Amino acid sequence: MWYNGLLDLSVMQLIAVTLALTHVTIVSVTLYLHRHSAHNSLDLHPALAHFFRFWLWLTTAQNTKEWTAIHRKHHAKCETEDDPHSPVVKGIRKVLFEGAELYAEAATAETLERYGQRTPEDWVERQVYSRYRMLGITLMAAVNLLLFGVNGIWIWAVQMMWIPVWAAGVVNGIGHYVGYRNFECADNARNISPIGLLIGGEELHNNHHTYPNSAKLSRRWYEVDIGWGYIRVFQLFGLAKPKGFRPVAHRVPGKNVVDVETVQAIANNRFDIMRQYRKQVMEPAMRQQKAKLEDAIRPRYRKLKRMLSQETSLIKPKDQVHLELLLETNPVLSQLYQKSHELQALWRRRGVKPQEKLQALLDWCRDAEASGIRHLEEFAAYLKAYSLRPA
Ligand SMILES: [Zn+2]
Ligand SMILES: [Zn+2]
Repeated sequence: MWYNGLLDLSVMQLIAVTLALTHVTIVSVTLYLHRHSAHNSLDLHPALAHFFRFWLWLTTAQNTKEWTAIHRKHHAKCETEDDPHSPVVKGIRKVLFEGAELYAEAATAETLERYGQRTPEDWVERQVYSRYRMLGITLMAAVNLLLFGVNGIWIWAVQMMWIPVWAAGVVNGIGHYVGYRNFECADNARNISPIGLLIGGEELHNNHHTYPNSAKLSRRWYEVDIGWGYIRVFQLFGLAKPKGFRPVAHRVPGKNVVDVETVQAIANNRFDIMRQYRKQVMEPAMRQQKAKLEDAIRPRYRKLKRMLSQETSLIKPKDQVHLELLLETNPVLSQLYQKSHELQALWRRRGVKPQEKLQALLDWCRDAEASGIRHLEEFAAYLKAYSLRPA
């Protein structure tokens, strides 16, 4: 007869307990390591922060400084040779199946020094968590055996695999490889699924790379970030406080002037502005121009439609040729494409004075209104309604 542990649970109960335990681990990673430690977008009560740190020691042997440093480096060097886990550079198989090994390789003293600021270096970190790194997961195994008997072994195995598979493999691999893009951020980050339950909301990785300092990862009404739900509940009890979760930008109905605040609000909300430019200007224009496209590029209509609004650094050279042919042969699309880049220059060019930016936006709107292209004229009016203050 097997020893079934102090709790003596049925198989279904054991599965439910395992999912609950791994869910606590995922929540610890997304709330504590990711949103609180790496991005500082969330304040946590010291007791709650320490619970998460303790739990991660028990279930992952993960060190806060290492995780934080590697993750910050990932954002700083995204999709380059120095990115610790880019599937674009290292290949999807490597990131998906050897995600945990990549973390170990990346944790050099130099990386920890440069990117590991503001992480715990207290007595318990030095004398317990970092010093006896494997003790936590060993204790967890003992507790599992005691509570669940022999079944505790596979529960422990699932617990040990959960973060390497879901966080290191799926988020870092799939999240930069397949999925949809709400925003044209400068790297290849994608939303794996609009429903962020299983990986605590980390599924919404394109949103996160676009707004890395936001404690909330969902952006569209149909997207769910369960991590944000927990933050709101903890906030009710005074245990958590989000520092920022949306760009400061408001649309004021009837506002029809361009001022310095318009420029700032547009820059704050730039990714959404470019998404609207795609929907309100580029896509309708492309549909209207479809019949006029050269024979050589008409079969590539759908791809070209997407490329017109795509982050330029992500367009492959073989596709670039077709985009150039489209722009050379179609004056309307060429003009709209140029206007899109002029708009992006408002926030991409560094060291430009606010007054010069204001003049650039005034010029942009004046040219758009005189363009004779209805969608572009309407978009100028759309931009003018932006302000830093609500109506
Ligand atoms: Zn990423
Ligand atoms: Zn991040």
